[in-house]
Amino acid sequence: MRTYIKIVVLALFISFFSFRAFAGDDHFNKCGEARNLILCGLELYLIDHMDAAPESFEKIINTGLVEGEYLSAPQSCPSGGTFSYSFKPAGDDIFPRNAVTSGGKRYILEINCSVHGVIDVYFAENEKKKFAMPSTEKAGACISNMKTIKGALELYYMDKNADARSMEDLLKNGYLKCNPTCYSNGKYELKKRASGFGAASCDVECTVHGNLEKIKL
Ligand SMILES: [Zn+2]
Ligand SMILES: [Zn+2]
Repeated sequence: MRTYIKIVVLALFISFFSFRAFAGDDHFNKCGEARNLILCGLELYLIDHMDAAPESFEKIINTGLVEGEYLSAPQSCPSGGTFSYSFKPAGDDIFPRNAVTSGGKRYILEINCSVHGVIDVYFAENEKKKFAMPSTEKAGACISNMKTIKGALELYYMDKNADARSMEDLLKNGYLKCNPTCYSNGKYELKKRASGFGAASCDVECTVHGNLEKIKL
């Protein structure tokens, strides 16, 4: 089961980085990428160590991730900024990229750079650039979001032997890490099918790009 969750985490990671070409090559972006790698490493660590105390996150990041091979090398800011970490419980209604789950509870991990600020600023800048992509790339990103939602439906069913009813169900139970964004401002909807389980229980639709199975680029 954990392997499947890892695949979902990695799929989100890859879909995030596949737009890297847009982000340019300055220190701000390299620092953001470094901190996003730390975030992804901690997520993988927490999948394997579900009972890790949030108070230990900083120690895990500074020693555990590299030693445990959740990160290939220590990450740093190219401008010489220092990283600091803090956490707070995540509310039930917010699903930011920097949310992590441990011991069944969700936390927001703040990864601050003394030069470049909080990681949310980096994520927000990247999102802005994606809204400026050509429409075919926006459609491609939307399709990959809908495939991720399909995968989450399948994982939910395998774990709970019941079908997720809504996007909120997938988010609140951690099967989707963060709310997927359609860069053409579409919203995602699950339309229950007459029969079928897991990934086959629903049609996944975007209000702009349409049904995943019928979509044409
Ligand atoms: Zn920095
Ligand atoms: Zn869409």
